[in-house]
Amino acid sequence: MTVIRQQDFIDSIEDALQYISYYHPLDFIQALEKAYHKEQNKAAKDAIAQILINSRMSAEGHRPICQDTGIVTCFVKVGMDVKWDKTDLTVQQMVDEGTRRAYNNPDNPLRASIVADPAGARKNTRDNTPAVVHIDLVPGAEVEVMIAAKGGGSENKTKMAMLNPSDSIVDWVLESLPKMGAGWCPPGMLGIGIGGTAEKAAVLAKESLMDPVDIQQLIDKGAETAEEKLRLELYEKVNNLGIGAQGLGGLTTVVDIKIKSVPTHAASLPVVMIPNCAATRHVHFHLDGSGPADIKPPKLEDWPEVTWELGSNVRRVNLDTVTPEEVQSWQAGETVLLSGKMLTGRDAAHKRIADRLNKGEGLPEGVDLKNKFIYYVGPVDAVGDEVVGPAGPTTATRMDKFTEMMLSQTGLLGMIGKSERGDATVESIKQHKAVYLMAVGGAAYLVSKAIKKARVVAFEDLGMEAIYEFEVEDMPVTVAVDSQGNNVHKQGPAIWKVKIEEMATAQ
Ligand code: SF4
Repeated sequence: MTVIRQQDFIDSIEDALQYISYYHPLDFIQALEKAYHKEQNKAAKDAIAQILINSRMSAEGHRPICQDTGIVTCFVKVGMDVKWDKTDLTVQQMVDEGTRRAYNNPDNPLRASIVADPAGARKNTRDNTPAVVHIDLVPGAEVEVMIAAKGGGSENKTKMAMLNPSDSIVDWVLESLPKMGAGWCPPGMLGIGIGGTAEKAAVLAKESLMDPVDIQQLIDKGAETAEEKLRLELYEKVNNLGIGAQGLGGLTTVVDIKIKSVPTHAASLPVVMIPNCAATRHVHFHLDGSGPADIKPPKLEDWPEVTWELGSNVRRVNLDTVTPEEVQSWQAGETVLLSGKMLTGRDAAHKRIADRLNKGEGLPEGVDLKNKFIYYVGPVDAVGDEVVGPAGPTTATRMDKFTEMMLSQTGLLGMIGKSERGDATVESIKQHKAVYLMAVGGAAYLVSKAIKKARVVAFEDLGMEAIYEFEVEDMPVTVAVDSQGNNVHKQGPAIWKVKIEEMATAQ
């Protein structure tokens, strides 16, 4: 019988969560590096370069890879021959205590993103608890932990289907994936759970994302099982869709496909697909009673030396003087460097603005959006001499329902976020001759370095969802929807799907 100390378990959870906030798994970095060298679409290659540079900066600076530091998801396998030194806390409570400490670490505070009462007040719990914990009793005298910090943008794109036994899983994935848009911040991985019941398939899909990136080894050895065959087929066909990094079109949408399956009812074929984003974050450890887990930091020389050059003819924009006429000359796909003042706002701030405008109260004091840009972001708190913590874009699609109101009633000139806009929103942008710009999701620490000043101007009680004024210098963005309604998230994947087909035919 092995005795596991409660303190060792809690300390290990805390260390693991700090570790994954700034270290990508090395296998994921190596897969991204390969994707970077292979990529032929410049916009997608630039996006992967930013993700890799951001990753290295986070590893060096011990600051979060992404401003969304995730919902803690933990698989705990407890050996049947394990005894705990104390029994006043359950495994869930111990994971929560480790989470609480990790997210409130003063040297590297992580963004608390969890809200209680999700169907009601949605009040932030302030310490990112509770975690989602799956516990298994297994043979042996060890405790095994696989822990992840799962981004909301990718989790929101989960798909589930109860297929007919004769349906094709490949067809379902290929039909579902383009509908998921780019809010899951590709390139990443797809975890697919097959079989059992509906809820079992979901847990399998999530657990499969904890496996290492090893598709190349599988390609080299060849498929031996139905699962392996499916992985290879999906890996090829998903990448042939041409969705590419950040949905800009390109050769790599996924760096691996992971699958777990269990037996199911003869009448059923439950399938769940969960994407993992550019901020793939997980680590595994074992406790054998000898102390807390010894999670070794990776070597920084293992990160690729990637440089990212902006062309000399890149457009520079002064946000303090930009005019509607100027914006109309910007072209979809163009890289723009922003300097000057912008306001921030995401879900909760938009909701409050909508409520105020509906009641005829106008914008809150200090908020003037006339000819301004709004950045969809919820930053991590600053530490030391930082102006702001990691501050990458959040999924713009969630703000679609407010966009017509913002453009027609506030004089807003443009928005900055990540991923695609819906058709009605693109039409609204076109009508108002506005523009939508995208920053790279998963490059939050890099983006934060362009922010030179930050202050809260309204809704302070919303914490990271408050309206800030950011003063930026040379913040790189891409024109995703221009004032004529040209939309890179529609055009890019369509062009690259055809190019990939042509490349395959030419071979
Ligand atoms: S990379 Fe994208 S999906 Fe992933 S945590 Fe960051 S913002 Fe969310």
